[in-house]
Amino acid sequence: MILKNYNLKALNSFGVDVKTKYYYALQKIDDINFLFNQKKQFLKKILVLGGGSNILFTKDYDGLIIHNQIKGIEKVEENKDFLTLRVGAGENWHKFVLYTLKMGLSGIENLSLIPGCVGAAPIQNIGAYGVEVKDFISKVEFYHIKERKIDKKNKIECNFGYRDSIFKKSLKNKVIITHVYFKLSKKFNKVISYGTLKELAQKKSTELKAEDISNFIIEIRNSKLPNPENIGNAGSFFKNPIVSSSKIEKLTKDYPQIIYFKIDNNNYKVSAGWLIENIGLKGYRKGDAGTYEKQALVIINHSNASGKELLLFSNFISEKVLNTYDIKLENEVNIY
Ligand SMILES: Cc1cc2nc3c(=O)[nH]c(=O)nc-3n(C[C@H](O)[C@H](O)[C@H](O)COP(=O)(O)OP(=O)(O)OC[C@H]3O[C@@H](n4cnc5c(N)ncnc54)[C@H](O)[C@@H]3O)c2cc1C
Repeated sequence: MILKNYNLKALNSFGVDVKTKYYYALQKIDDINFLFNQKKQFLKKILVLGGGSNILFTKDYDGLIIHNQIKGIEKVEENKDFLTLRVGAGENWHKFVLYTLKMGLSGIENLSLIPGCVGAAPIQNIGAYGVEVKDFISKVEFYHIKERKIDKKNKIECNFGYRDSIFKKSLKNKVIITHVYFKLSKKFNKVISYGTLKELAQKKSTELKAEDISNFIIEIRNSKLPNPENIGNAGSFFKNPIVSSSKIEKLTKDYPQIIYFKIDNNNYKVSAGWLIENIGLKGYRKGDAGTYEKQALVIINHSNASGKELLLFSNFISEKVLNTYDIKLENEVNIY
C-alpha cells in the first residue's frame, strides 16, 4: 500500500524530522510489479531508502520513497574453498556479518557494526579497517526503473572505487538494488594491516579467529563512534580527500603531524578527520549541529537540528578546510 505524507524521522540516522509525499515498503520482489502498475503520479520521482544511515534530508521529499525491506539469504554456489550467498537488499548489514561468522565464513568481519542494509553496501563500496566490500561482492541484482526489468552487474561492471561505484554514477537513482551476491572464504584470511588490529593480533595468545576481529572492531566502534540511536549522525560526513605527491609534499612541510596514506606513487589519501581536528573544529557546535567530540569527521545532530542546518554546518566545515589547506572535501553522505 502506498502511504501519503509519511514521517521519515525514525527512518534516517540523523533523526531529521521530514516527511515524504508518498511511501512504499517493498517487502517482496513480486511487489515491484504491483508498484510499477500504479498511477503515474506516484512514480514521477523515486528514491530508494535502506537503513537511512548515509543520507541527509534537507527538506520534505516531494516524491515516492521506496523503503527496501526485501529479506532472505540463500546459498547459490559452493566449493571446498568458497561459498556464494545471494542476500536480500533489506537484510541488516551487521546481522548479515554475524550470520557469515556463524557459518564459519571469512571476508567481511572487518566491516562489523556498519549501520544500514545489505542493498546499500555496494553503492558506496562500504569500507573500514583495511577492507572494502567490493572484494567480496560477485554480483549485484537490481530492478531498472526506466527499463522496467530485473538486471545484474558483475563485480567489474560495478566499477567500484573508494566509496564509489556505478550506482553513485550512471545508475544513480535509476535502480532498486534487490539482491547482492557475496563470495566468502571458508578459510580465515585475516586483514590486520590497520594499526589497532595489529595490536590485537600481538596481544592474543591463542590463534586469532574471524570472530575475534569482529568483536574487537565492535568494541572500538562502540567507543569511538556515536550510536545513531542516541546521537543523530551518518558516520563520516566527508570522504578522505585524495591528493597528488606534490600536494602531500607541501602539506607535510606545513603540517608535519598530518595523517595520510600512500595509495600509489602519485596519490595519497589524507585523513579528513585530522584536517578538521587540526583547525580546532573537533567537538565544535553551532546551534544543534556539531562535530562529534571523539571524531571530527562525524557531524552530529545534538537534538533538533534541521536537515538544512546540518547542511549549512557541513558547508561551514568544508569552507574552513578549503581556506586552510586548499583542499576541497567531497561529501560521503547523500544529500536530498
Ligand atoms: C555510526 C555510523 C558509522 C558508519 N560507518 C561507516 C563505515 O565505517 N564505512 C562506511 O563505508 N560507511 C559507514 N557509515 C555509512 C553507512 O552506514 C553506510 O554507507 C551504509 O551502507 C548505508 O546503508 P543504508 O541502508 O543506511 O543506506 P541509506 O542511507 O538508506 O541509503 C544510502 C544511499 O543509497 C541509496 N540506496 C539505499 N538502498 C538502496 C537500494 N536497495 N537500491 C538503490 N539505492 C539504494 C539511497 O537512495 C541513498 O542514496 C556509517 C554510518 C553511521 C551512522
